[in-house]
Amino acid sequence: MDACLTNAKSCIKIHKKGMKEKKKKTTKKVNEIDNEDKSKGKNHWRNLDDMEQYLLYIGGGAGALALTGVAAASAYYLTSRPTSQRPLFPLDAQCIIEEEGPDLIRVSRFFKEAREGKFISYLYPDAKTLYETFRRGSKISNNGPCLGWRESYAKPYQWLSYNEALLRAKNFGSGLVAQGLPPGATTIIGIYAQNCPEWILTEQAAYCYSMVLVPLYDTLGPDACAFIIKQAEITVVVCEDDNKCNLMLEKSPRCLKKLIVIKDLRVSTKQKAKNMGVEIVRFSDVESLGSKKSHPEVPPKPSDLATICYTSGTTGNPKGVMLTHENIVASTSAVILQFGDHKLKSTDVMISFLPLAHMLERCCENAMYSVGGGVGFYLGEIRRLSDDMKALKPTVTPAVPRLLNRIYDKVQAEINGSCVKKMLYNMAISAKEKEIKRGIIRNNSFWDLVVFRKVQEGMGGKLRLMLVGSAPLAENVLTFVRCALGCLVVEGYGQTECTAPITLTIQGDHVPGHVGPPVACCCVKLVDVPEMEYWAKNNQGEVCVKGTNVFQGYYKDPEKTEEVIDEQGWHHTGDVGTWMSNGTLKIIDRKKHIFKLSQGEYIVPEKIENVYIRSQYVSQVFVHGESLKSCIIAIVVPDVDVIKCWAQEYGIPGTFSVLCNNAEVKQLIMDDMISWGKEAGLRSFEQVKDIYLHPDNFSIQNGLLTPTMKSKRPQLKAYFKPQLDDMYSRLT
Ligand code: AMP
Repeated sequence: MDACLTNAKSCIKIHKKGMKEKKKKTTKKVNEIDNEDKSKGKNHWRNLDDMEQYLLYIGGGAGALALTGVAAASAYYLTSRPTSQRPLFPLDAQCIIEEEGPDLIRVSRFFKEAREGKFISYLYPDAKTLYETFRRGSKISNNGPCLGWRESYAKPYQWLSYNEALLRAKNFGSGLVAQGLPPGATTIIGIYAQNCPEWILTEQAAYCYSMVLVPLYDTLGPDACAFIIKQAEITVVVCEDDNKCNLMLEKSPRCLKKLIVIKDLRVSTKQKAKNMGVEIVRFSDVESLGSKKSHPEVPPKPSDLATICYTSGTTGNPKGVMLTHENIVASTSAVILQFGDHKLKSTDVMISFLPLAHMLERCCENAMYSVGGGVGFYLGEIRRLSDDMKALKPTVTPAVPRLLNRIYDKVQAEINGSCVKKMLYNMAISAKEKEIKRGIIRNNSFWDLVVFRKVQEGMGGKLRLMLVGSAPLAENVLTFVRCALGCLVVEGYGQTECTAPITLTIQGDHVPGHVGPPVACCCVKLVDVPEMEYWAKNNQGEVCVKGTNVFQGYYKDPEKTEEVIDEQGWHHTGDVGTWMSNGTLKIIDRKKHIFKLSQGEYIVPEKIENVYIRSQYVSQVFVHGESLKSCIIAIVVPDVDVIKCWAQEYGIPGTFSVLCNNAEVKQLIMDDMISWGKEAGLRSFEQVKDIYLHPDNFSIQNGLLTPTMKSKRPQLKAYFKPQLDDMYSRLT
């Protein structure tokens, strides 16, 4: 960064010389700024505000500003000429197509044997299970820093080395055995904690004795947690703190016998547990016990179950996705391979803040451990993530659209307050986009220094790789992130049932709007979805996946497993995709009309419609949402008789069509729908944020209903596009 600042200074000097004659009048002011800067030492043009001030002084207008920016940028460019990276293969053919009957099956170009129908299971012969990958990390990092944490925002990160982590994990596992839990996959351990070293120690402890880990998390709620504990017959849960212990005890099933607590509990909580017959043991005590007993390890085989990852789903009980060691090692190996020249290294540091209960985070961390990198945990407050990143200085991070949208919105809010800032920002984005198109990824350009430095420093200033996934990401946000961070930003598409990754964008492909080609642990095909008129022959259909990353089935639920894994072993994801001409996949819809909003929450529109239809004012309703939006809206056909009656009573004149345009009528109906929603227990993201009243019924004749009177959703969406767009434009 210092070198960059020096370059920036020399370029500023060159630039000033050229402008001298033209801008005599402003020289004094510029000098004043220079003098101020000199007195501040290195504080030259630290951010957009300084730059804006400076340019306002010397430019005095938009034209001059543009010229100034371009001239300064060019000068700086000449002094810090970047090098471009070549894509690993031509970007217009990113996957290999295999023929199988009418289906076109696509496989990765990163794995030679994929052509023969094989999938990657591991990268290194000595690391085929998560037990072995961790030990490989220890070896190749030469016992480097492994798990990092800090006690408060004022303190620096401290690290457990790989060997310390391995010893503590072994001791904790041995302690579990000493507590009466037998080694082997019949022992299922629950963990209910936010990301912290003890989470990983528990995970590795379980693997030392071939036990299976089940993560529990807040958004499941007490009922779903109780269901999971009962279904998996969990007797021991590692629980972080007092609050989580209380939630656990709230509906604790009889099979739960022990809570192993990481932090101290209140006396009242201990008493409550005692009354319920649940024993409380301290994490550190289990470690000490294990160290004394030192039970011999019983390492797992690749085909052994490593975890059951419960997905909260949309309706009904959560489903337990069974994943083996091979599943997880295959997924992490395929992703590491697809990073190309940006592979993970033992010198990398990753920040851990996404929930470890989700396979995206779990895979990212295990990928890091397999290469001997360090993982530092945030302090638990997402709003202060930037403080943790500044202290940790990660080189690698996973991310979700929600986080990136927030950064994007913040930057937009800042630039929208000033035309100068906006102009500089646009120039910066356009200059950086041009570089990215040429394969240049860097964070030391002129524009990085003056426009994007704040964003980069907010993430620690050292990021070289970001993997985004778990929900759809808007194209403009992805491009912004690529420009602003100046590191490789790849987008992955996946599912818990596929251990996380299915496809991943590759280095050199800067074009947003797709999720890349398949990764090397699976092949992908699209199958017809007749009811939604998606046809494989048109390169559209439900995304189906086969490979070493596909799960073993839902725990104790063969029926649900059969619904999604067919006889040939294809997992039907429920997502609808289309193949782009360059061999990448784009996700365009969701079968069964279930989709995620931008913040990652699932929406089942039919369920919500069934609630709203209970309102006496509603005759028909079409609930609509888009994956790039954070809320849902609806088209409502009001009940003509009820509305006319109400209007008469309150002396509101007009035909039914006129009443549908009346703000009071709209408010009346919306309020009633919301109160029905509340009564039915809809969560706030499941409630509509705006409605449009339509006076004519959806019917078979007008093509909006099927012969069985069901809503034709794609047609309704197309028919009401102007109204839906209008509502969204007012909501954002
Ligand atoms: P989960 O099992 O909770 O990870 O959720 C998986 C679902 O998230 C997929 O079936 C998709 O619907 C959605 N999803 C994940 N990644 C993406 C992505 N990059 N673009 C669009 N949808 C995604």
